[in-house]
Amino acid sequence: MNGPRVGVAGAGIAGTLLAWRLKLADRSLRVELVDTPSAERGATGVSGGLVRGYEPDPLQLDLAASTLAELRVSRLLRAWSGYQETGSAYLRADPADPSAMEHLERLLPGSARACAPGEAPFVAARHTVVERHAGFISPRRFRDEVLADFVRIGGDFVHGTVDAVHAEPGAVVSWLVDGERRCYDRCVLAAGPWTPALLPGDEYRTKLIQYGVYDATGTLPAPFVDAVTGLYGRPGPGNGVLLGVPSDAYDVDPTNLRPVPALLRRTSDLATRVFPELGLAGPRHVVVAADCYTAPPGLRLRPTAGAGTNLFTFTGGSGGAAKTALAAARHAADRLLHQSPVPA
Ligand SMILES: Cc1cc2nc3c(=O)[nH]c(=O)nc-3n(C[C@H](O)[C@H](O)[C@H](O)COP(=O)(O)OP(=O)(O)OC[C@H]3O[C@@H](n4cnc5c(N)ncnc54)[C@H](O)[C@@H]3O)c2cc1C
Repeated sequence: MNGPRVGVAGAGIAGTLLAWRLKLADRSLRVELVDTPSAERGATGVSGGLVRGYEPDPLQLDLAASTLAELRVSRLLRAWSGYQETGSAYLRADPADPSAMEHLERLLPGSARACAPGEAPFVAARHTVVERHAGFISPRRFRDEVLADFVRIGGDFVHGTVDAVHAEPGAVVSWLVDGERRCYDRCVLAAGPWTPALLPGDEYRTKLIQYGVYDATGTLPAPFVDAVTGLYGRPGPGNGVLLGVPSDAYDVDPTNLRPVPALLRRTSDLATRVFPELGLAGPRHVVVAADCYTAPPGLRLRPTAGAGTNLFTFTGGSGGAAKTALAAARHAADRLLHQSPVPA
């Protein structure tokens, strides 16, 4: 193997899928994926894993529905990700854009229908996009399986912490891994909520995400998002329900997070209001983590600010990249492979 060297920092679902896609597409590439020894600390390890095709933003819809379509047709990817098809519901104040529904129909035929208030078995007052081919995956298991395959097909997985990234226009990119400088033709920072610390600037921010697993006497018909209140959730695990609401806690330190009691109160208040039949008891356990946020949101390959360098980011999942990562990684790998490197 003496092809170009590509370094990817961060083996969450984003970095791992990108490294794997690159290696699958061109076995001569020397792809090195670097992660700290405790990779389970990232968003991928605790993600709720809700996957559906519908998103209000057309680009995110395309990525989410393409990811789901690829997952559904591949027995291997379904097994690796632990995909469970439960359906899903996206609750809105107004009807979904008909062109979004048409695009969804092209990518996931027969899956989605737009229901007027009262037509769907959910919240009577909402318009609802009901999807048949949706559900949840285990992002952590998916990452672990893809990582194992990446190594099987000749990718290098390096345990270590990336630091002191150095990129100049038209030159190789380098970083320190536990004190040793390593050079690459192209580098991608995919360190999720740790990316802002590696690449200071105001383009990338961290934000806290919290959900609780609650004991309940009733259950939910399917995973849902209520765009009106922000409440989201899914039935299970076990006979509980997983519920959360978005936080507004930005610029948090991803290694030092604590549960926010006010968010827990808001979650159970909203759940009781939106689903009065649920019979909610206190949370059995609470998960608190962070993700990397960008505007506009979404996981995609972005060049870094230094014009003409070979340094990119692949992050910005903004709380929703488990559902788009497979397709986003394919686009990112295509771009990295087919855009000629900035010459040294
Ligand atoms: C609580 C929670 C629930 C979520 N639920 C859903 C959901 O239901 N559906 C959905 O679609 N999305 C969901 N998301 C969002 C989705 O899980 C994330 O967008 C996605 O997992 C982000 O993956 P990532 O690879 O970008 O980041 P991460 O998974 O955070 O991975 C970053 C990796 O970088 C490594 N790293 C950090 N610093 C360094 C360094 N200096 N050197 C080397 N490696 C480093 C870390 O160890 C880590 O492994 C949720 C997120 C959270 C936090």
